[in-house]
This record gives sequence, C-alpha cells and structure tokens, in this order.
Amino acid sequence: MADYILVLDEGTTSTRAMAFASDGVLAASAQAEITQHYPKAGWVEHDAAEIWDKTLQCARDVIPRVGGAACIAAIGITNQRETVVAWDTSTGEPLTRAIVWQDRRTEGFCAELRDAGREADIQSRTGLLLDPYFSGTKMRWMLDNVPEVRAAADNGTLAFGTIESWLIYKLTGGDKHISDASNASRTLLMELSSSGFDKGLCDMFGVPHAALPEVVDMSGALGTTGVRLFGREIPITGIAGDQQAATIGQACLSPGETKATYGTGAFVLANAGKTPTKSDHRLLTTVLMQIGGERTYAIEGSVFVAGSLVQWLRDSLGIVDVASQTEELARSIPDSGGVTIVPALAGLGAPHWRADARGVITGLSFASGKAELARAALEAMAHQTHDLAQAFAADGAEWETLRIDGGMAANNWMAQDIANVLGLRVERPDFVETTALGAAMLAAAGVGLCADINEAAEAMRGKLTQFTPDMSEDVRSDRLERWRKALKAA
Ligand code: ADP
Repeated sequence: MADYILVLDEGTTSTRAMAFASDGVLAASAQAEITQHYPKAGWVEHDAAEIWDKTLQCARDVIPRVGGAACIAAIGITNQRETVVAWDTSTGEPLTRAIVWQDRRTEGFCAELRDAGREADIQSRTGLLLDPYFSGTKMRWMLDNVPEVRAAADNGTLAFGTIESWLIYKLTGGDKHISDASNASRTLLMELSSSGFDKGLCDMFGVPHAALPEVVDMSGALGTTGVRLFGREIPITGIAGDQQAATIGQACLSPGETKATYGTGAFVLANAGKTPTKSDHRLLTTVLMQIGGERTYAIEGSVFVAGSLVQWLRDSLGIVDVASQTEELARSIPDSGGVTIVPALAGLGAPHWRADARGVITGLSFASGKAELARAALEAMAHQTHDLAQAFAADGAEWETLRIDGGMAANNWMAQDIANVLGLRVERPDFVETTALGAAMLAAAGVGLCADINEAAEAMRGKLTQFTPDMSEDVRSDRLERWRKALKAA
C-alpha cells in the first residue's frame, strides 16, 4: 500500500532522503555530503547540479528499501533556506554556482540600502532586515557579475529559485517553477501578507520579476514527479524551509508555541498566529505556514554560536575529545566558580545584532579548569536563549514552554539548565529529526493521509522528555547578573 512519505531534506552540509511511515516512524534513510566551495573569504557556494544528483541518488537508494515507488504516497521537501540557484530554462542546467545563505559578499549592497534609509520600510513590508543572509541581494549579485545570468535574463530564459524551487523544477521535469511561501518569505522580494513576489521590491533590488517562481501553498497537490525518475509519478504534497519545517515538526501549530533548534547556531521560532506583526526588538517576522492560501506567521531569532562553541572547546582548546563530554564535566562541579562565557566568536545575532562583538570569558581564577569552562559554555546557551525570550516577550510573543531539538539538545544537563534559567518547562522529542518530520507532516496532510496538519502532527509526533525548572531564584538572578555584566564587555 502507498503509505510512506518520502522526505527530501536538503541541508547545508548534506542532503538526505528519509521514508516515514504514516505514524511518523522513520523506516529508511540515505545521506550524501554536499561539497562546500569557499572561493574567497566570506564567500560560500554549492554546485546545484551536485545537489540535484545526490538528492536523486539518495531517493533512489531509499525507495526500494520500503517496497518501491508504489509504496510512496507522496514526497515532502525541506531545505536550507535563502541559498540561491540560477538556471536556464532552455537547458534546465545551472548557470553558475549557488550562493549559500552564509555568504557575506553582498554586505556592501546591503550597507548602501541601509545608508539610503531603506531598512525600516523593507522591514515593515518583508519582516526581514537588510542583511546579506537573505536571497534578494544574492540574485542581484549574480546578474551584475555573471554574464551568463544577465544574458539569460535578457533572453527571457533565466529562472531564479531557492533550493526547494530548484529541486521541484528537476523533479517535475521542468514542469513547475514554484516556491513555497516559507522559502519565498526569506528573499526580501515578497511582502508578508501578499500572495506573490512584489514588483516594487524586485525593482528596488534589481531582480527581474519574470525570473522568479510562482509562490504556492506548503501542503496540497503542488507537483508530480516525472514518470521516468522513479518508475511512477509521485505527487509532491509538502514543502517548507528547514526552520519552518522544524517548527511544524515540533507541532508549534497554535500561537505562542515555540521551538529552539540547537545545532551549529541556534534558531528560535514562535508561532505568531494569522496576523504578521513587526518586531520592535530586531527579531524577524516570517511565514510559518501557508495552507489553502491562508498564512500563519512566525517570529524568529537566530543565535550565531551554539554547538560551534563546544566544537571550539574540543578543537581549539582540547578541553573535551567529544562534544557530549561537556555534560559530565558540567555535572562534576556544583557551579562554574563564577566563570561566564559570552560566545560572540562570530559577533552577536538576535536580539543584539552586533557583528563587531567578540567573545569574552569573565571570572577566571586559579580554581578555574576544564570543568568550569565546559559548564560556562553550556550555561551560555541558556543565557542566550533567555535574551531571546525577553525580546520575544517584549514583542508580545511570550513563550509558555520551549520545545527543543538539534544535535546539541541531546545534552540533558543543558536542557535542564535552559528550563531553570527560563523558568519554563522544556520539552524534547525522543525523535530529534524534527525538520524532516515537519516536511512529512505537511506531505501527509497534503496527500490526504491525514485530514489536516493538526491531525498529521497528532499521528506522527512521537514521545517527549520533559525538563521542569528547579533552580532557586537567588541562583538564577545571580547567573543572569553575571551574564549581563559579561555581555557588556563583549
Ligand atoms: P548542524 O545541523 O548545525 O550541523 P547538529 O544539529 O548536527 O548541527 O548539532 C551538532 C552541534 O551540536 C555540534 O556543534 C556539536 O558540537 C554540538 N553537540 C552535539 N552533541 C552535543 C552534546 N551532547 N553536548 C553539547 N554539544 C553537542
């Protein structure tokens, strides 16, 4: 019976295919690394042809393991957001390397627009800030610097898209040039409450509107794979950018429900309901879901350094051999002995947005050793999350509980510490691949395996572990006071 959902999860460092049963249990998966190209300092590129080849390979590896294409009810797609692909519709091939979300090459153009006083208007229309992170300025860079892209634009054969758009174009044999509303909301080219890309914004960024995809729902009949790819046409019925997919995978389907993903960096998204609200505290407003044309919004805050601080303890300081040792070190002492780390190793993200800030360690004494540093590093995660919680609350999006995931969330000590410092219940699903699960939920609802996204979440979300706050108010306020002082120094 066709009741598996095949999720294609195209991330920054690897692409995966995962087959989920209708109860959310992962039945088979395959993964392939994506080559990272760093042509200059601050530049990061991917080869879009490699992304497609490896995604297809992973899908073809997984499908036979669950009984063949006849057993796949639908495909769901989730992807690294903001990364831009340019291709030629006459050949179906990329015109240049994809510019990855991390790439900073358009900082100059963003600064020009900021200096021209455009940021407030852009923020109120798109929910975003003027930063190279988002797709629009990357498209403009390609037009200005890659003659093949400009020529294709002049010939009317240029197609721009983020990664989901590129994969769907290839999966449908060139039939569909679409982007789902969550990915489209990361481009700077779509207004938060309008249905497609905005001509005025396209003109401001110098991107031809005709080269952009059609903006579509995130769940429903969105496209069909060409029959030759898998031996059978398979419907594509769910699409979401990775952080939105994780938010859905954590079942944050009602206003106020919030998730935090702790990987290399940390991303917090709170369901903000049906009305887009502008943040007054430098958080982003973004599309969380669009189903049946109706949008739900999210408020988003990103912290640049989370798990990468633990990597730094491991690789640069040699304090641990593996990341998980930080947990036993943190547990081996009653407190950090006054040591506080502000992990601004790559500047500070939300809500501070200080690219010029640098990391600080305060409170060192002769008693400070490996355990104190490891504990202070983990404590910094709770402190950074607390700063975000305050910004969200000030924007009217107070958290009731926090649902956590990501590789670093496996650390039980850290999960408990976050609950303690926030003074909130923290929940962690036993199955931590929430991004892929969210795409599976959208696809299951979209193909009719479940009545709607709420029912899909009900059916597919697995068991949770709970962490309840148990820290005295004195200890908590002392921690926050030390953090505030250290933050000033950073
Ligand atoms: P990404 O998806 O960004 O590549 P992951 O979600 O795979 O990241 O998380 C990996 C990060 O989490 C690494 O930076 C690693 O240092 C950190 N990490 C993994 N396990 C633990 C742990 N048990 N304790 C602390 N940090 C951890």
